[in-house]
Amino acid sequence: MSQTADLAILHAKLITMDDQRRIFSDGAVAVRGSRIVAVGRSAEVAATFTAKETIDAKGGVVQPGFVDCHVHFSQHLGRGIIPDAWPEEREHAHWLPYWLNLSEEDANAGTMLACLEMVRNGTTTFCDNGGKFRGDAKAAVVNRVGLRGMISEVCWDLPPYPSVSVGDTDACLKRLERLTQALPKNADARIWAGVSMAGMGRCTDRLLVEGKRLADRLGVTLDFHQSFGPGDVANYRKQTGGKTAIEHFANLGILGTNLQLVHMIYTEDSEVALLAASRTNVVHCPAASTRVGMGVSKVGRFPEMVAQGVNVALGSDSGNYSDFFDVARQAYLASTIHREARGVMPAISAHQALEMATRNGARSLGMLDAIGSLEVGKKADIVIHSGCRPEWHPGLNVVNSLVYSAQSASVDTVMVDGEIILRGGRFVRLDEEAEYRKIDALAQNLHRRMGFAIPSPWPLD
Ligand SMILES: [Zn+2]
Repeated sequence: MSQTADLAILHAKLITMDDQRRIFSDGAVAVRGSRIVAVGRSAEVAATFTAKETIDAKGGVVQPGFVDCHVHFSQHLGRGIIPDAWPEEREHAHWLPYWLNLSEEDANAGTMLACLEMVRNGTTTFCDNGGKFRGDAKAAVVNRVGLRGMISEVCWDLPPYPSVSVGDTDACLKRLERLTQALPKNADARIWAGVSMAGMGRCTDRLLVEGKRLADRLGVTLDFHQSFGPGDVANYRKQTGGKTAIEHFANLGILGTNLQLVHMIYTEDSEVALLAASRTNVVHCPAASTRVGMGVSKVGRFPEMVAQGVNVALGSDSGNYSDFFDVARQAYLASTIHREARGVMPAISAHQALEMATRNGARSLGMLDAIGSLEVGKKADIVIHSGCRPEWHPGLNVVNSLVYSAQSASVDTVMVDGEIILRGGRFVRLDEEAEYRKIDALAQNLHRRMGFAIPSPWPLD
């Protein structure tokens, strides 16, 4: 007897990312409510399910939504303002005025821009490290678009910038706890609060340890930056009495499956071994480094991490560090820059990069039982690409096509939690053009208040 479904997607090149990594050349997915009820060959799914709506993918690729494990929504309204000359004192000269002048309305506009960009690029789940304002307001903006994700309110209790951070250990912890109560993580939550900090030597040991306890108690992720540049690594070594960052974290007892360390470019072999043994997650943000010449391809040990079983996910980071929120482009970089720098193939393969972009991101956020692959029982977070674009053809190796050729420009329809939020290239819940008008007006106003000119080597009329 036929079973019912709300939606059936038929005739797809279906990349499931399930435990066997099955790929169907004429595949289908059926969805009931927020969950996937069937994955398989089109003929079999069509014969078994009667769906209220059917989408014919016409040979387009269908994949689980990407997971972007590191973004800063609040910085998105200022992307592109820092020149390529990238002065040494950049944070004081450029970013501090940005932060000090940023209003909550500006930050919310940055959040909206980030969400629109992520959906258009096939991302369905994000992890935002947090900004100056309350996460609840940010969650309301995300809800207008319909994405899934972890929100936090970044904090640090060591200088610099006490005007932006909270500045006191107890106040940091109180702030984090309040948000986790306001946005609890549960099976039905599309948006939940995690525990995010600045890291990179700006957090006391007490804040790290108490933050980990809070994350353990609530079953959420502890998330912070680490080992981005040689300077922060050297400074942190002084703070830890000569220990590497990961040795120090091992001594503090904060390594583990719910810790997510972002960047981890300047690492040692002994640290990679500790990360693997403790099953600590790493977020590779290749574009954040290549944009500012931080050294990710020269010194990054990401191929070693992947080979040794460290769960490595991907992140887009922020305006002025990558300037785009596109996990597929991060996957392209992750799979190519290390082989280029080392002169070896594959370093990280296209298939491994796609795992980083989907399953590994889900695992890093403690969500692999719900998202990260297209499997019966999982949440229906699904991306449909249009097959009517040149980059998909001839399409003889669909994973190579996705990572090397198509990336995400062909995203046509995006579903989160069984709800279509982008249909045929149009946002369902909002008027995209009207949002861009608001975003641009607010950004121009903010830039005027900041009071510095964006240098251009070419004449601007
Ligand atoms: Zn960051």
